[in-house]
Amino acid sequence: MHATAAVVFAQLITKNVDHGVHAFYVPIRDPQGERDEQGRLPFLPGVGGEDDGQKGGLNGVDNGRLHFDHVRVPRTDLLARYGSVDADGTYSSPIDSPGRRFFTMLGSLVQGRVSLDGAAVTASKLGLAIAVRYANERRQFTGASATEEVVLMDYGTHKRRLIVPVAETYAAHFAHERLLDLFHSVFSGDEDTPEQREDLETTAAALKATSTRFALDVLQETREACGGAGFLTENRITSLRADMDVYATFEGDNTVLLQLVAKRLLADYGKQFKGITPGQMARVVVERAGDMALHRTPLKRAAQALSDAGDPRRAAGHLRDAETQRALLTDRVETMVADVAQALRPAQKADPETAADLFNAHQVELVEAARAHAELLRWEAFTQALATIEDEGTREVLTTARDLYGLSLVERHLAWYLLNGRLSSQRARTVTSYLDRLIDRLRPHAQDLVDAWGYGPEHLRAKIASGAEKERQDEARAYYRRLRASGDEPLSEKSLRKAEKAAKRSSLATRH
Ligand SMILES: Cc1cc2nc3c(=O)[nH]c(=O)nc-3n(C[C@H](O)[C@H](O)[C@H](O)COP(=O)(O)OP(=O)(O)OC[C@H]3O[C@@H](n4cnc5c(N)ncnc54)[C@H](O)[C@@H]3O)c2cc1C
Repeated sequence: MHATAAVVFAQLITKNVDHGVHAFYVPIRDPQGERDEQGRLPFLPGVGGEDDGQKGGLNGVDNGRLHFDHVRVPRTDLLARYGSVDADGTYSSPIDSPGRRFFTMLGSLVQGRVSLDGAAVTASKLGLAIAVRYANERRQFTGASATEEVVLMDYGTHKRRLIVPVAETYAAHFAHERLLDLFHSVFSGDEDTPEQREDLETTAAALKATSTRFALDVLQETREACGGAGFLTENRITSLRADMDVYATFEGDNTVLLQLVAKRLLADYGKQFKGITPGQMARVVVERAGDMALHRTPLKRAAQALSDAGDPRRAAGHLRDAETQRALLTDRVETMVADVAQALRPAQKADPETAADLFNAHQVELVEAARAHAELLRWEAFTQALATIEDEGTREVLTTARDLYGLSLVERHLAWYLLNGRLSSQRARTVTSYLDRLIDRLRPHAQDLVDAWGYGPEHLRAKIASGAEKERQDEARAYYRRLRASGDEPLSEKSLRKAEKAAKRSSLATRH
């Protein structure tokens, strides 16, 4: 609609050699031209384009397509940081390797992924802040009391569906903070090394892929947790979800990004073995075989079951230990990567087609390993942050939230832990009940945990999170209280029938 120039990424071909994608500054509209009835300036010759029209969300951002037909730009309008062309058409670049140049060029796009991770964490926080506030105020159905209705947040299902994601959002928040540190170290030039850039690429891909998906799940869950009110546009969650939808796709599709992460994990795994002697390699193979034997036979499970025997509290206490959680999460990533690496070994010597088929056959496990790596990154960031919290009470509550996040991952992947002999069935059985205890422990802090994110009504912009629901509930309760006190409260048909039956029974008894 409005752009007069664009940065166009296109192949740079000179002297009949394709040097790959480069960025060009290209004027696209004539700023002096006559605007059409919609206020648009005319395209320059050879340039065309159209709007993408209505989208599934994010309609506040314009998207469209441009096309070019023999458009000429001056040689000097090549954005030449990573490559330039002399007047005679000779290409030069400060980065010699075409592969590394391509990835360096793409590397500047990492800023988008870093921002998306932050936006996804924020969207999760907003959805949860709205839903928790509403759940603490809305009353629905009577429980033990005949007159007092229960607040939603006290229902078992509600506690779990909101408090577990609150804990995970804290993990995502701290992981994002670490990502920003890494981003700053590279882009400020403090530590702009190829290794640091590679770490930034991998971490941004891992976190963006997991946090955007998580936000979508959270927004759906919080929408449902607010019932019909959650479906009203005035309560914000549906719009947030619609806008968040494309985050799973743009700046890199999540599945594709996770493959990038997995490839890095595989490369790092391979590096461990670089330069080691055949003797050392043999030892690694034997140790790995031993490790597999240990985990895959009931040996280790039996030992664990023995030490847990008869004492579920001990089993639960063990799971609360940070080192146990770290060991369980790390072991899962390492084992998954090692398993895939082992399975892919024949690809090294195979023809390209067989190698590609083999890789493809293990794509699902690869992506799963990358996801497990992202989960571990978040857990580590959360744990690292705990050490910086000075207030004892806050640290205690957040440690419980960290445990809840760690154990929710173990519960999510319980089948893997059982199948791979990492948890005894006895210990596995304690995971869910211990998780429920942690949820109950956090229940009184649920409102504080979401308030701590610092969003006021001006940020939440949701009627149900403005105190309106509490006012409505208080008014209704006061009305019924007054009615009961006045003695004018109508009887329910059910209690009337009960009274009639009782009267009939007593008159029969007197007659006999
Ligand atoms: C609203 C919006 C705004 C955008 N803005 C910009 C922008 O400003 N600049 C820009 O350059 N781009 C932009 N994009 C493009 C965006 O980056 C791409 O849509 C995105 O990277 C996905 O690529 P694709 O659409 O070609 O999907 P595809 O690559 O066709 O993917 C389709 C599906 O196939 C799967 N898939 C693809 N390849 C593989 C594989 N190798 N293995 C397994 N599965 C695979 C994916 O997981 C996905 O589910 C935007 C897109 C949208 C929707």
